[in-house]
Amino acid sequence: MPSFPPRRAESETGDPLLLTPGPLTTSKTVKQAMVHDWGSRDAAFLKINKDVLTRLPEIIHGEGRYVTVPMQGSGTFAVEAMLTSLVPVDGKVLVLINGAYGHRAKRILDIARRDAITYETPEDTPPDPQRLDEIMKADPAITHVFVVHCETTSGIRNPIEAVADVVARNGKRLLIDAMSAFGALPLDSRTTAFDAVAASSNKCIEGVPGLGFVLVKQDVIAGAKGNATTLVLDLYDQWQGFQRTGQFRFTPPIHVIVAFHQALEEFWAEGGVAGRGGRYADNCRILIEGMQELGFSTLLPDHLQAPIIITFHMPADPAFDFQRFYDGLSDRGFLIYPGKLTVADSFRIGCIGRLYPKDMHSALAAVREVLTELGVSMPLRSAA
Ligand SMILES: *Cc1c(COP(=O)(O)O)cnc(C)c1O
Repeated sequence: MPSFPPRRAESETGDPLLLTPGPLTTSKTVKQAMVHDWGSRDAAFLKINKDVLTRLPEIIHGEGRYVTVPMQGSGTFAVEAMLTSLVPVDGKVLVLINGAYGHRAKRILDIARRDAITYETPEDTPPDPQRLDEIMKADPAITHVFVVHCETTSGIRNPIEAVADVVARNGKRLLIDAMSAFGALPLDSRTTAFDAVAASSNKCIEGVPGLGFVLVKQDVIAGAKGNATTLVLDLYDQWQGFQRTGQFRFTPPIHVIVAFHQALEEFWAEGGVAGRGGRYADNCRILIEGMQELGFSTLLPDHLQAPIIITFHMPADPAFDFQRFYDGLSDRGFLIYPGKLTVADSFRIGCIGRLYPKDMHSALAAVREVLTELGVSMPLRSAA
């Protein structure tokens, strides 16, 4: 044990830095936006909300063609609302799975009693567009395909454009869970065909948790009446509510929305997807290079790695104990994330949120310190 407490990194508000897949470290100004009260039917709040809804489609270059339907709750509420409101009773979904979020979508469809089949690849393997083509050709009953943009389980970047192309060529509809990628990885609706994409307030836009949203094509939402399996998650009804009154049907997470509005201002000021994605790419590169120098290895090759969250193999050195490693980093102000993989023993470090290259360098210095404290010899070897 060191005789003095280690130096502790902190956010703009003195909190530990969250190197996780979300909720994330947010700016002080985003949090400060919440220190007021608003009436949910009051013009001041309704204007802020409308601004959020109107501007979100710009992120996918979908102005005028896509509408934003927000959904109270975490990201999964938006995914469930999208799947259950846009897939009709007689629809059939092909779910692409290479991690926990693909499995979750299948579960949502099963519970909603929607016909669904899966095309599963290992967590470190993207779906093959050729194979996807064959599956769709062999089963004409398929109406929709579901894909996760960045599968946060591993951090893999799925080939969204290639998937969209083959889905469109087969005349099927694509639904995307872009939760952890939205705002950082480009998704251009002018060149990539999809019916809807779900995301949330608390990932790459750097807001606080509590709001999901679905960007959905105007004609698709207009045709979605009567599909829903629940009242609260009915995207069509929610959209109709805004059309009629400009208001949420049920209590909105007002503070979350006001903070999200501020987070979007900061997102545009940083240069939108290019700026935000660029910072995360820098963070990701610094982190991977630094960890590799210490002897850690990544699950994914660079070309499959999204600049969102990185999966590292657990080191083989018996002196490496994950809980002690985690605690040592936590003492130094960095919260990392356990692994969620079935293919390898691993842990994860996120590089999204209000984090800058300097924070990645400090995190690496902390990793080195903790490894020294644990008596792990460097450079280390991976168990894989
Ligand atoms: C974070 C995330 C979700 C939503 O998770 P919640 O815990 O409900 O916010 C869904 N899909 C992916 C790919 C995610 O990363």
